[in-house]
Amino acid sequence: MNISQAQPYLQKYFGYETFRNGQQQIVESVLAGNDTFGILPTGGGKSICYQIPAMLLDGITVVVSPLISLMKDQVDSLRQIGIPATYINSSLSAMELRERISEIHNHTYKIIYVAPERLETEYFLSLFRQLPVALLAIDEAHCISTWGHDFRPSYQLIPRAIRALPNKPIILALTATATKQVQDDILALLHIPAKNTYRTTFRRDNLHFVVQKNVNKKDFLVQYLRTHPTASGIIYAGTRKDVDMLQQFLLKQKFKVGKYHAGMNEEERNSSQEAFSYDRTPIIVATNAFGMGIDKSNVRFVIHYNLPKNIEAYYQEAGRAGRDGENSNCILLYEPSDIYLQKYFIEQSNPDRQALDNKKLQAMIQYCKTKQCRSTTIVQYFGEADTEHCQMCDNCDPDKDKNTVDITTEAQMIFSCMRRVNEKVGLSFLTKILRGSKSKKIIDFRYDRLSTYGLMKEQSEKRVMQICKSLVDEGYIRLEPLQEGLYPVAKLDVSAVAVLKGQEKVEIDLAEEPVPATDIPFEDNPIFEELRQLRRKIAEEENVPPYVICNDATLREMTTLVPQDESAMLRIKGWGESRQQRFGQAFLELLQQHKPKSTSPLAEIQKTHPKAYKPWTKEEEEQLRSLFDNGQSVTEIAQTLGRQTGGIRSRLEKLGLITIANDTK
Ligand code: ADP
Repeated sequence: MNISQAQPYLQKYFGYETFRNGQQQIVESVLAGNDTFGILPTGGGKSICYQIPAMLLDGITVVVSPLISLMKDQVDSLRQIGIPATYINSSLSAMELRERISEIHNHTYKIIYVAPERLETEYFLSLFRQLPVALLAIDEAHCISTWGHDFRPSYQLIPRAIRALPNKPIILALTATATKQVQDDILALLHIPAKNTYRTTFRRDNLHFVVQKNVNKKDFLVQYLRTHPTASGIIYAGTRKDVDMLQQFLLKQKFKVGKYHAGMNEEERNSSQEAFSYDRTPIIVATNAFGMGIDKSNVRFVIHYNLPKNIEAYYQEAGRAGRDGENSNCILLYEPSDIYLQKYFIEQSNPDRQALDNKKLQAMIQYCKTKQCRSTTIVQYFGEADTEHCQMCDNCDPDKDKNTVDITTEAQMIFSCMRRVNEKVGLSFLTKILRGSKSKKIIDFRYDRLSTYGLMKEQSEKRVMQICKSLVDEGYIRLEPLQEGLYPVAKLDVSAVAVLKGQEKVEIDLAEEPVPATDIPFEDNPIFEELRQLRRKIAEEENVPPYVICNDATLREMTTLVPQDESAMLRIKGWGESRQQRFGQAFLELLQQHKPKSTSPLAEIQKTHPKAYKPWTKEEEEQLRSLFDNGQSVTEIAQTLGRQTGGIRSRLEKLGLITIANDTK
């Protein structure tokens, strides 16, 4: 069997004309009967890698997938486009289970999703042995490795389950984890030959990476959420307590926001996740317990309220934004004191891993501090040799120095105040002294008699605090925890001496207002809004999340091309015959009320927001192919198409015309 037989299925069911790079090789390898390992970034299109072979192979495809809530969405999505699929997990009653099993025996389904824990039960294993399993797909395969951050013991039962089958199925392991150690583990444990590994670049060209340093985080959130009122997003916080606190805070500010952490019971967690998926509460505050395999494609932003533990975890969490390929923001709110929380977690963890975890944390801190392109920093961390700048992150912004200010005088005031209190107070108390607070504690300690008392009273508390935090960030101040539970005390680093003596200047980035770096007003488009409403109505009728009907990228292309008949609809990426048959009429009726425009709404957005990522239309991709085939260089093509060279390179890679990623074979 070969790839040309798979093409019509891709078009009919998924509405895509071509496989992406990586997808094509993986599907080809599986169809040739090889055990295969696919490493694609989040949003890279891993599901299609087993869903298409499932339709072509004789027999059933079993997919091991780690999250019960996700299974339902995946099965719903497949059913919407006419692919017979079901799932088996602990959410089913005994009767439902019996019914499903009898349907499975009657060959009703081509794809069956199972939770790894099923492999622990003899009952399931005996059912498994009786099935004609042609392909066993292992989603989120990194869960098999104890080195992975999502290790799930039940995943280690997979090899035993495979051995128990009368005929060995084709094995396909899929992951978005880029660490070599985990990849090697997956290959070894599942006995997949290393030569059958396929990996693409980890660069995600629709993600805008930003690190906001030392801002007032709550103010930032409120401002960001107010300026993006229709966007759906995830806010990751470091601890359960922070999640509870932030959700309460945002609810008081009248935002529709849910929460998710491991301290909630299963029912509460499921209902929070569902409300988020269905866009009923478009924002969710969560710990890192949330989101493995979260399938919601229209997540427009991921904000990290605290520093994550390493770049792998950060990229996986941030990468949950923009799976549909639309512009999305990944913002990390960094302040040096967050490092302590991560160090504390490391100290509590397995001593054998502490050195490695510390090294990874350092790389994460370095990511926050770097002046280099953030996307490039990330992909280089994952071993890619790519040096192309993304032109979209805060560091690629040509105006990035506009917030640089000289704070030498303020630094001198702060340092001398620290000396006068014998370096015995924390930053917030120090700020109070500098601003001349009349609090009882200050009077009791007689700090109001210091020469530095009230020296910065003209400046707001927030600003003094922001300057102090920046000085920590620059290494002039160290925060030293005395004992657990007490605030860290601010100590002077030797480097502060030169500043105090006037021998060194201090310049830092100090934004007056926490302005969201990439404010892209997509949702202002009236047709897009109408299409979204229609999608939501259909989703409610079908009892599925809206993105299961179709993703935002597909709606976006409809607003751009405003198709007026069936054949134009079928040219929309991600639509396809199945969707056309089911929902085409309703969407066409809406679109026919609008005239196709001479200039697209996207082109208008590009005029005011030149940094916005411009999704690729089919026509433009064809033009790209032909320019490339005619021997034009990347720079020439970029000029002709009015795009950045980085964008051209990564699209050429997606189309399989060039290779960027390091070969791990
Ligand atoms: P992953 O599991 O790798 O995170 P998904 O399978 O959820 O990614 O796919 C991410 C998005 O990419 C989905 O919206 C999907 O419809 C889209 N997609 C998948 N394959 C293609 C393709 N060949 N062309 C265009 N879009 C695709």
